[in-house]
Amino acid sequence: MKDMMPVNGQFAMPELPYDGLGNIISKETLGFHHGKHLKAYVDNLNKMLPGSGLEGLSLAAVVKKAEGGLFNNAGQVLNHAMYFEQFSNSPRPMDEKLKSLLERDFGSVEAFKKEFEQKGATLFGSGWVWLSADKDGKLVITQQRNAENPVTAGLSPLLTFDVWEHAYYLDYQNRRADYLTALWQIVDWPVVAERL
Ligand code: MN
Repeated sequence: MKDMMPVNGQFAMPELPYDGLGNIISKETLGFHHGKHLKAYVDNLNKMLPGSGLEGLSLAAVVKKAEGGLFNNAGQVLNHAMYFEQFSNSPRPMDEKLKSLLERDFGSVEAFKKEFEQKGATLFGSGWVWLSADKDGKLVITQQRNAENPVTAGLSPLLTFDVWEHAYYLDYQNRRADYLTALWQIVDWPVVAERL
């Protein structure tokens, strides 16, 4: 899965691997979401780490051990790093291995997408919908509130859609379901498969 190590006790701001995502996520949304929201989480994490006893650990290890404000900020940095990394304006298709795993555990890729969208649309309040692999390699979809990440439940996270309003409100207003459906057009599947 995606993980990061601190350098001199500080986590770096995750870079965007593109300068736009067409009309699926506008540059205005990217500017606020990456440049303001994620930047604030990174800055807060780096302020709270010294003296926490968790200095020097990887980001995922901090998320597994932290509590309170440190957990919230570390979780949001990990969640957003994975979210922004998995998209592309020239997305590549899914390979046969991931496709066969989705078919094994959800019946079909379309059935997986439908359940993933439904769980994202029905998550009450702010949070994230995730595809993860459990300890036996079975693929599961979970709803996680606020800054939660599936690593805290012993799962290996593969794919996530952010359903905090800041992720979609400028482009889709209250139409969260339309945002979720649109995101499939920009998922760069080899990035997801590499997290297996
Ligand atoms: Mn977000």
